Amino acid sequence: MAKRTKRPEFRNWAGNQVCMPAERLWPTSTREVADIVGRAYDSGQRVKVVGAGHSFTSAALTDGVLLSLDKMDRVEMVDVENQRVLVQAGIRLFDLNDRLAEVGLAMSNLGDIAYQSIAGAIATATHGTGLKLGNLATTIVGMEIVTGTGETIWCDERANQELLRVARVGVGALGAVTKVMVQCVPAFNLHVAETIEPLDDLLDGYTENIEGNDHFEFFWMPGAKRAHVKRNNRTLRAEDPPNRVTHFTNKIIGENIAFDALNRVNRRRPGAVRKVAKYLPGGVEADYVGRSDKVFASPRHVRFYEMEYGMPVEAFPEAMRRVREFVSTLGMQILFPIEARVSAADDIPLSTANGRTSSWIAAHVYKNTSYDTYFNGIEKILDDYDGRPHWGKLHFQDHRTLESRYPEWDAFAETRAKLDPAGTFNNAYLDRVLGPLD
Ligand SMILES: Cc1cc2nc3c(=O)[nH]c(=O)nc-3n(C[C@H](O)[C@H](O)[C@H](O)COP(=O)(O)OP(=O)(O)OC[C@H]3O[C@@H](n4cnc5c(N)ncnc54)[C@H](O)[C@@H]3O)c2cc1C
Repeated sequence: MAKRTKRPEFRNWAGNQVCMPAERLWPTSTREVADIVGRAYDSGQRVKVVGAGHSFTSAALTDGVLLSLDKMDRVEMVDVENQRVLVQAGIRLFDLNDRLAEVGLAMSNLGDIAYQSIAGAIATATHGTGLKLGNLATTIVGMEIVTGTGETIWCDERANQELLRVARVGVGALGAVTKVMVQCVPAFNLHVAETIEPLDDLLDGYTENIEGNDHFEFFWMPGAKRAHVKRNNRTLRAEDPPNRVTHFTNKIIGENIAFDALNRVNRRRPGAVRKVAKYLPGGVEADYVGRSDKVFASPRHVRFYEMEYGMPVEAFPEAMRRVREFVSTLGMQILFPIEARVSAADDIPLSTANGRTSSWIAAHVYKNTSYDTYFNGIEKILDDYDGRPHWGKLHFQDHRTLESRYPEWDAFAETRAKLDPAGTFNNAYLDRVLGPLD
């Protein structure tokens, strides 16, 4: 029986998105989800599913029924031979990673955190970094979906192939995803090399860096000359992680507590930190070997707002130089780094990397800081490169500006009209970014 609550308010992780659904429910099975959606369809009510609430956009908001699949978090099947697992859609990535490690498997790539639910992560095309690695949705080889009419459909490489291709990145518009089959890889370790290097060198040597490393990324503090660089490469060497004290000092104190304090001071007395900020590389050097998922994902205790844009990989050095130039004229001290990553092209219609190898530029500000001028300025630059905003991160686009940036926009629209003819899963965000249903 689905648990319900008397206090239905929902607030996302960053605290910038809040809604008051008519009802919040925690179903425990696909059958329950289908019953709830079927009833909503019959009565014309709206439904949304929320994962871990880690999107910065209003993607998961509703004034109808809000479902959380937190109680649908089981691993239902492990196929070690084919390196596949069937999981319920509410499982969190950190939990999945541990369960995979127990059977000698791992996700091929991950983003910076592992708090997300698997369904929420794929819905917005969550990605990590790696020239030859697609986003998390590209690892999905089967899905169970409760459509907008309450019907349950399974799709994989044999049954409903086209639906699988499209539905992997659904932005919550096609129905409630209740199970997914994930293609994993044998468990692996990563050799971590973190350095501080001049930004100009990183831009001049961009191609060599992304081609020469399994996972390349850097964090550049606006105004600084140098950036914090991460080159993570697969290794057969055994784990040799930094000791607990070093890890605590770097990740918890450096990247969270001290960082939070600096941002608080900056908000109250911006002039006080301006001089210091110029010299902040935004990280410390490191060299160790760790379990892949522990290397990819870090703890994030400092709350912030984020915008991230994908662009054709060849556009990156010029775009990043223009972003640097723009930031230098901004007149406000940003104490959160800009992150640069890369990922492989895929064939998923609404994937932000559809049909093109993508470089990424992500801008962040401390929570409760105004971001309009900063994010808007960067967005305008990236518009020149047909930039595609991350579906789960802040942006100012709508369906009129987005449609031409997705060659397979119509394939998604057709699937949406078929699976959710009455708009049961619609909300204001989808009306804005995908347009109203015809
Ligand atoms: C600190 C932080 C770090 C991040 N790092 C990265 C990163 O490294 N790379 C990256 O690409 N992104 C990153 N993100 C963004 C994040 O991965 C995405 O916003 C992701 O969608 C969040 O997953 P979630 O489970 O919280 O989903 P939610 O935010 O709860 O939901 C996202 C969307 O998925 C839909 N949805 C959720 N569950 C289901 C379901 N079962 N069926 C159908 N639809 C569903 C929701 O309705 C909504 O539309 C980060 C976010 C934060 C806060």
